[in-house]
Amino acid sequence: MAETILFLAHTEADGTLSKATREALACAHALGGDLVLGMVGAKVAPAIDCHAVRYLAVCGEDFAAARYSTDAAAAEALYRAAGATVVVAAQTTRWARVLAGVAQRVGGRVDTHVTQLTQTSATRWLYRQRMEAVSSRPGHPWFVLVESGIAPAFTGSYTIDNIEQYSPGVSTRTVVTSRQAPKSEQQTIRPEAGLLFVAGAGWTKKQKDGRTHTDDAGRLILGFLEKSQASLGSSKSLVDLSGEGQAVLPFLSHMNQVGQTGSTPRHPKGLATCCHGEEPHVVGWRFIKERRAVNLDPNCGWARGKADVLYVADAFEVMERVNALLEERVPASVG
Ligand SMILES: Cc1cc2nc3c(=O)[nH]c(=O)nc-3n(C[C@H](O)[C@H](O)[C@H](O)COP(=O)(O)OP(=O)(O)OC[C@H]3O[C@@H](n4cnc5c(N)ncnc54)[C@H](O)[C@@H]3O)c2cc1C
Repeated sequence: MAETILFLAHTEADGTLSKATREALACAHALGGDLVLGMVGAKVAPAIDCHAVRYLAVCGEDFAAARYSTDAAAAEALYRAAGATVVVAAQTTRWARVLAGVAQRVGGRVDTHVTQLTQTSATRWLYRQRMEAVSSRPGHPWFVLVESGIAPAFTGSYTIDNIEQYSPGVSTRTVVTSRQAPKSEQQTIRPEAGLLFVAGAGWTKKQKDGRTHTDDAGRLILGFLEKSQASLGSSKSLVDLSGEGQAVLPFLSHMNQVGQTGSTPRHPKGLATCCHGEEPHVVGWRFIKERRAVNLDPNCGWARGKADVLYVADAFEVMERVNALLEERVPASVG
């Protein structure tokens, strides 16, 4: 008998689905079985046509903002309405916060950070992407959160209007009064960017004139990010410097750190600069498809061993030139 697979999606403000959600939808779609699309949000139409056997929704202002009580109630109601044996959702912070609890409520099991999925098995990385595990869950229901970047985003048209509505009783005791976020030009972490730019501690080290040039480093890195819209990653040594009272790049935080104790982003391309460490090169960008590095040290084993191309050069000079070339192509007044 075909499995019933519920795909859970929280919608954007206009009722559509984000790219990360459509990537996870592609994974659910590829499983075969009877797909049911369950949507949660202020607005859930138009829904994406993913050849589902049913389209379900919990919608209204109470479900606009991420909140444990309302999101969990919505997910549980959709699960019960769908009669699903497998529930798939994107590994967003919103679903990651609630789906383990929902699985517990309905007597199910949950697997998170899944990078490959079949109807009977889920693959994920462990110990900071050093080991890969494949597990199966004979008991149902089975909740699975899948990582972004593991499938091309589903591209159906938004045409469905026969959506079944559900209204679970919810507690809205926690009220979202406003949102505070840095301006987009101040945000250096851009998961959708085509390039990950990794900055290492070399940017703050003494250079050939025997002095540090941290201000120049900041200007070059921010200038490059602005022109290229790349995402900024950092080595641990560089983000740790502030705790040691050294000259620092003020726009970096531990959120930028890549590696064993940082993140492992999935951009198509990566460029590491002034960076020697094993963790950023071996673990931090292992999912980056095309990797290049700029380092003064031709014997930097990690840059040479793990990058597709190593430029043995001064990153200050290289980035000055790269920024000038980008400026010619995208003048500041236009970009
Ligand atoms: C348990 C544990 C977990 C860790 N987890 C992480 C982690 O998650 N992420 C992480 O990054 N690290 C991690 N580390 C630390 C890691 O081992 C390295 O110490 C660190 O990554 C080194 O940072 P770096 O390459 O920026 O600095 P450095 O080792 O100081 O390297 C600086 C580099 O800059 C180059 N350089 C200097 N000036 C220039 C210039 N003008 N042009 C070009 N190149 C230049 C130098 O040649 C050198 O190669 C971890 C360590 C431990 C013990």
